[in-house]
Amino acid sequence: MVQLNLPFALPTDNGDICYEVVFRKIRHPRLELKSGSLFVIAPFGYKKSAEFVKKYSAWVIKKTTEFRAREERARGKELKLRKRGDFESLVMKFIGMYSSQIGFPVNRVTFRKMKSRWGSCSSTGNITINSRLSMLPDDMIRYITHHEVLHRKIRNHKKEFYKQVRAEFPDYKIIEKELNEYWLAIRAAA
Ligand SMILES: [Zn+2]
Repeated sequence: MVQLNLPFALPTDNGDICYEVVFRKIRHPRLELKSGSLFVIAPFGYKKSAEFVKKYSAWVIKKTTEFRAREERARGKELKLRKRGDFESLVMKFIGMYSSQIGFPVNRVTFRKMKSRWGSCSSTGNITINSRLSMLPDDMIRYITHHEVLHRKIRNHKKEFYKQVRAEFPDYKIIEKELNEYWLAIRAAA
C-alpha cells in the first residue's frame, strides 16, 4: 500500500472524516486504519466511499482516538541509551537468574533487531532477544527475559504460563500495557 501522510481520521469542523481510497481487485470494500489515518480499500470503480466511511464513523473515531491516546502516552516515555555491552550483560544476568530459578537451562542467546516481537524461545532452548530492548528500563528487560526463559518450561501462553508470570510479576498486566507504549515510542525513535 502507498503510505501517505494523511491527517488523523477524526471529524473536521464540518464533520467530515478524511480518508484515502485505494482501489484493489477485490469484491467488497473495507476500512483500514494505519497509524491513525483511514483508508477505504475498494473494488475498482467503487463510488460509495463517502457513505461507507459515514456508516462506520463511530468505529473510526473510537479507534483513532484510542490510537492518539496511546501515541500520546508513548511520547511521554523516556528511552534508555545503554552501551551494547552493558545491555547484553544485563540480559545475560537476568537469563542466568531465571534459568536457575525456573530450573531449565538455556542454550544460546542471540541478539538481533526484530520488527514484531521482543523476544522468542525455540524448542531447542535458544533464546533470541530483540536488541531494541536496550532502550527499556531494567524492570521491563527483566520481565521479557523471564517470559522467554519460562517458555523453556511451558511452551504455550495458556493459563499455567500466566499463573507463573503473575507469581513473579503480580502487576504483569500493567507491565504488558506499558510495553505496548514503549514499543510505539521505540518505533518512533528508530
Ligand atoms: Zn511468549
